[in-house]
Amino acid sequence: MSARHVSVAVPVPGLPPLTYRVPAHLPLPEPGTRVLVPVGTRTVTGWVVPPEPNGEQGTGNLKELLEVLDPEPLLPREIVDLALWTADYYLAGPGEALAAAMPPQSAVFSRRVVSLTEVGRANELQVGLRRRALDLLREHDTLAVDSLIRRLEDRTAKGAVDGLLRDGLVAISQPLEGRREAFRSVARVRLTALGDDPAVTRPKRQGELLALLRGTPDGLTSRELDARGIGWDVAKRLAASGLAAIDQVRIDRNPFNGDRPHFSVSATPRALTDEQVAAVETLTALLAARAFAVGLLHGVTGSGKTEVYLRLAARAMEQQRRVLILVPEIALTPAAAAIFRAAFGDRVAIQHSALSDGERHDQWHRIRRGDVDVVVGTRSAVFAPLPNVGLIVVDEEHDGSFKQDESPRYHGRDVAIVRARNAGALIVLGSATPALETFENARQGRYRLVTMARRVMDRPLAAVQVVDMQGEFAERGADIVLSRPLEEALKAHLARGEQAVVLLNRRGFATLMFCRQCGHSLECPNCSLSLTIHKATRRARCHYCNHAVPLPNKCVKCGGEFMEQSGFGTERVEAEIRALLPDARVTRVDRDTVRRRGAISGVLEAMAARKIDVLVGTQMIAKGHDFPEVTLVGVVSADVGLGMPDFRAGERTFQLLTQVSGRAGRGDKPGLAIVQTLVPKHYGIQHATRQDYLGFFEDEMTFRRSMRYPPAASLINVVVRGPSAGEAMDLAADLAKRVRQAPSPDIRVLGPAPAPLARIKGEHRAQFFIKGTARGRMRDALRAAVEDRADARRRISIDVDPLSVL
Ligand code: ADP
Ligand code: ZN
Repeated sequence: MSARHVSVAVPVPGLPPLTYRVPAHLPLPEPGTRVLVPVGTRTVTGWVVPPEPNGEQGTGNLKELLEVLDPEPLLPREIVDLALWTADYYLAGPGEALAAAMPPQSAVFSRRVVSLTEVGRANELQVGLRRRALDLLREHDTLAVDSLIRRLEDRTAKGAVDGLLRDGLVAISQPLEGRREAFRSVARVRLTALGDDPAVTRPKRQGELLALLRGTPDGLTSRELDARGIGWDVAKRLAASGLAAIDQVRIDRNPFNGDRPHFSVSATPRALTDEQVAAVETLTALLAARAFAVGLLHGVTGSGKTEVYLRLAARAMEQQRRVLILVPEIALTPAAAAIFRAAFGDRVAIQHSALSDGERHDQWHRIRRGDVDVVVGTRSAVFAPLPNVGLIVVDEEHDGSFKQDESPRYHGRDVAIVRARNAGALIVLGSATPALETFENARQGRYRLVTMARRVMDRPLAAVQVVDMQGEFAERGADIVLSRPLEEALKAHLARGEQAVVLLNRRGFATLMFCRQCGHSLECPNCSLSLTIHKATRRARCHYCNHAVPLPNKCVKCGGEFMEQSGFGTERVEAEIRALLPDARVTRVDRDTVRRRGAISGVLEAMAARKIDVLVGTQMIAKGHDFPEVTLVGVVSADVGLGMPDFRAGERTFQLLTQVSGRAGRGDKPGLAIVQTLVPKHYGIQHATRQDYLGFFEDEMTFRRSMRYPPAASLINVVVRGPSAGEAMDLAADLAKRVRQAPSPDIRVLGPAPAPLARIKGEHRAQFFIKGTARGRMRDALRAAVEDRADARRRISIDVDPLSVL
């Protein structure tokens, strides 16, 4: 590549880096720098990436960079490389991966907009399409070119707009939107030399402010004045008389303001259990080696893994190295952040999607500036621009939320392992129920296994009672939601003043509404799914595309008057518990009740303050929270995942049951978990009731080996969308055929077939799998196939190492 050319990754799905010429008046940008480049008719923010070693660089008609947005690379080289690795491994475009690594509000972009010229404004002589275009512009002033063409609703619209442009009646421009910097600033008032002269006095409010400012050489912001009851107009008047000056200062939006009080964290170090001591010793030895290593901390729920992370983090900081801690759930992060903040003070930053864009942006820049030593965050924090990382912790490493469900479909844990390798760092994966992949790696000796088998203070694990719902249905009818043992336990525990958590991984009141006369059921017009009945809002709603209709009183098909409901979700569970225990304070937590940011904290706070007796909810409440007074956990149906055509269903059920029974009895009182199921003999359920991870692992591995599912083989899931089932299948078949032709004997292609959810949001979906042992060759074969069908790139979704194949 010539000296004045650069490779730029642009945020367009699947597109490789593009080469641009750097005009003489611009500096030559380094990798990690944001630049403004033309792509097609748009102007977008791209990232300079290292030139591809063997990439052919056309020297012909290259486009030019429009602008270099950062004086120094915004992304450290290490993060650029990590994002490019992610793009390559997960078969995504480099620009998509770099975008995922960036804080929000860092893209500057432009749209082509069209507006009237003077001539056009005065011109009344046009007819037809041209006339309508001018009228639209008189009405709207300026419109995006695309939008104008769409509004004209005519095949020849583009030609008409081009004609108006040629005749000088309209003009097209490309203003930039978005900003280079998205810092928040506030106005600040400071004394001038004139104002500092003690001889100068002012009357009343101005005099007060003058005195105040003489005591605060750094000045006061408008907010600080506000807090002291002084209006900003007073500052302005002082400034007008030259006694003070007003400027703007940047502030960091701090998500810690308003920390929730219910995370009482003791800062004094406590004595570790023997198992904790052993774990810290083993892992510290790995840390001291200052070389890449993976540790698996397999500790039962309540064994005190967090304390181990804290000690390790302190050791890493003693080595002058920084610490990255990844946690799964947004709902969990404030607790984790509060614990680390209590331990390490202000040098902690948090990164998760429940922060406002502004907060995330500011936290990102604090990290980039090196102002923090510890970052606690969810998935995307794996790309945090933290220099000199010595320790990475992935807590609850088995958790599905580490996998991103849009391109790039990366797994935060696996990217974290690569980051640790690149940085020569120790990475510790922690879980009570490690993912099969992870435990298998430990067994093969690739990861160092550290086990903590006992709970802190030797608190017993919760007793688990399995209820066979077949028997309950036979005795009390098939419409039973709460079994008799669960009802009795709820009554007993509440009578003793203890709290309960009741879990069901399904929202809504009923899962199906159908006509008793003709059998017609309410289905989503866009997706191959029935609508879920929500009684509170009196609506039937699709949980995929959110399409909703008011609940009908009559069958829309035959007019029949008897609409039946069947199946149930959390809303129904809540209603049943209220009916059973009319005096209990019952609260439900699921995506229907917790829309608002921060709403979950309010519920958790109320729970900790014992203002709630029974918490009903989906998996949001299954893990992580530590409520000492919860002595009963009810699982309404352990079968929600089982029976789905997904090879991880058993693993997910085992994890859920283990985690959920880990919620009970964390205080001094013993806990009880009641698990309702139709298949009490299922090995996932059996092993979970005994909290026997190893037993489960052996059985599940036998199943995975016999079916050649991960970790016994590698898997790539390819989903193809199309306007009709036939078109989706055709493209899928074509791609599958190309992959099959790849000269590699150990690659097997299964399918294509219609996806289990054959239609979502109006699009038809077909699916095929690539299985094999050599992931690299599988990726190469698929990459080649997709490049051959670049015309259809937008319709192809690729999931390497899928967590779910539905
Ligand atoms: P895990 O993440 O392994 O499920 P936690 O780290 O949440 O477990 O610890 C469980 C509980 O035990 C927490 O309330 C924690 O504060 C407490 N704990 C951890 N270590 C100790 C210790 N050495 N002594 C006393 N209590 C501890
Ligand atoms: Zn739908």
